[in-house]
Amino acid sequence: MKEIVFDQVCKSYDQNQVVKKLNMKIKAGERLILLGPSGCGKSTTLRMLAGLEDITSGDLYMGGRRVNDVESGDRNVSMVFQNYALYPHMSVRDNISYALKVNRFPANEIAERTSEAIKMLDLVGLEERKPKELSGGQRQRVALARAIVKRSDYFLLDEPLSNLDAQLRAHARKELVKIHEKYHQTMIYVTHDQTEAMTVGQKIALMDKGVLQAFDTPKKIYNKPANVFTARFIGSPPMNVVEAAYEDGKIFIDGKKMKVPDAWCKVIKKQNKIYFGIRPEDICLSRKGNDKDYSVKAVVRYVEDYGDKYGVYFQINGVEMLALSDGDVPTPGETVHLEPNFDKVHFFDGETQKNLGYPKEK
Ligand code: ADP
Ligand code: MG
Repeated sequence: MKEIVFDQVCKSYDQNQVVKKLNMKIKAGERLILLGPSGCGKSTTLRMLAGLEDITSGDLYMGGRRVNDVESGDRNVSMVFQNYALYPHMSVRDNISYALKVNRFPANEIAERTSEAIKMLDLVGLEERKPKELSGGQRQRVALARAIVKRSDYFLLDEPLSNLDAQLRAHARKELVKIHEKYHQTMIYVTHDQTEAMTVGQKIALMDKGVLQAFDTPKKIYNKPANVFTARFIGSPPMNVVEAAYEDGKIFIDGKKMKVPDAWCKVIKKQNKIYFGIRPEDICLSRKGNDKDYSVKAVVRYVEDYGDKYGVYFQINGVEMLALSDGDVPTPGETVHLEPNFDKVHFFDGETQKNLGYPKEK
C-alpha cells in the first residue's frame, strides 16, 4: 500500500545532475536509511519525495500512484527538517498540535494525539515553553512530536539527530525506532553517519555523487560490500582497502608477496589488478617467525591505546592501514607480520571496483 518506487529518477540544477537514474523500491512500513557523504544528493532525494523539489526526469510512485505532479500537501507525508523549523512564537504544545488544527481535526482527537506525543518524547512539563527556552535536544524532540502527531503514511527525516551530542543521539535513535515500531509508517531517514545507519536501518541505501552504490540490509552491506566505496564507508573504524596485483595464487602489495588460499584464487581468477580489503579487527599481528606465506611484513608507524586494545597504523602502498590488536603492543619503527583472517577478506575488481564475490560456502 504505502510503498515507494523510484524509477530512473534524475534531478538536475541547471547542468548539474545531482541525482542520477535512481532506481529503488522501498517496501510499505519499511525503515530505510539514506546514507552518504555530504553533498551526495540525500536531501534532494528526500525533498523530491516530500514534493518540495520537482523531478527532472523519471517517475516517482508512492502507494502505487505516480506523484511527479502531486502537491506536497496531497502526499500524506510528514517531514522533520535538519534545522527543526519550529514556529518561534508558539509554545511547545501549539507547535505540536498546529498541523492537526489546520486540518480541522476534532478537539478531543487533537488533545489525545498531542498529549501522547508529549509523553512519548519526554516533553512533559515543557508544554508551555517557547522554542528559544529549550535546549537543542528538546527542540529536536518537539520537531519529531510535531511530525508524528500527523500519523502520515510516510515519515521523512533529514539528519534529525545531527545537532545533538553523542549521548543524546544514541538515546534519541532508540526512541525513533520505537516510534516506528508503534506506527509503522514508511520511514526514510537521511544521515551521513554510518553508525546511525547500521543501528536504525532495516535497509540502507548508500549514495555517492548522486549514484546509488548499495541497497541492502545493514548486515549484508557490512559483510559483503558491493564495491570499494561501500567497503570504505560502512564500518568503524573503516575497512582497509589497498591496491594489489595478483598472479598465480599470490598477491603483491607494496612489492611484497602474500599467498592467497586456493578457495580465493578461484574467485579472483585471472584478474591482474585488484583491490584487497580487510577490516582492522580481522588482522592478526605477530612479531615472531621468519617469512610467513600468508602474511605481509610492514613497519609500525603509530600506535594508539584504546584501553582494551591498541590501534596499530601502517602505511602500505601509500595507503594508511589500521590493525586492532589486544596482544603485545608493538613500537613504532618495529617490523611485524600482518596476517589477515582469510574468512574475512574482500576482493574487488581493479577497474570497476565491484566486489568479486566469495568462495562457495561449505
Ligand atoms: P546531501 O543532503 O547529501 O548533503 P544535497 O541533496 O543537499 O546533498 O545536495 C546535492 C547537491 O546538489 C550538492 O552538490 C548541492 O550543492 C546541490 N544543490 C542542492 N540544492 C540545490 C539548489 N537549490 N540549487 C543548486 N544546487 C543545489
Ligand atoms: Mg542534506
